[in-house]
Amino acid sequence: MTRFIVLFIAAYVVYTIVKKSLKRTPSGNDAQQRTDKKSQPVVTHLKEIAYVCYSAANDDDTCDVCREFDGRHMLPNHKILQRVRPPHAGCKSPKGCRCTLVYVTRDEDGSSEVESLLKKHGGMCDRQTIERN
Ligand SMILES: [Zn+2]
Ligand SMILES: [Zn+2]
Repeated sequence: MTRFIVLFIAAYVVYTIVKKSLKRTPSGNDAQQRTDKKSQPVVTHLKEIAYVCYSAANDDDTCDVCREFDGRHMLPNHKILQRVRPPHAGCKSPKGCRCTLVYVTRDEDGSSEVESLLKKHGGMCDRQTIERN
């Protein structure tokens, strides 16, 4: 009988250890999933952006480079954005580059039309092209 109890306790101890180690593995995965989730909003955020609109201050101090890009629509992953992301370095305005990027999300009306138009035009369109469509 004593032997049975000892065996039972031993089995119970083994059972608890196994249970603990089993618990630890999923919780480790949980932590991993949590870190995955942390980086997820950024990805979803980018996915939700239909296009980006470049907006210059457009006054007497606005330089030609900024003015040229004013009103341009670009896909959010367009490589030109890496170069001209405001405030960009090549700005000649005495006040400095005051341009902004307007991020338009996919749930906005007409954004999908503009997005497909941009895709047709290699990722970037000027204001005129957008307004014509
Ligand atoms: Zn400028
Ligand atoms: Zn600028």
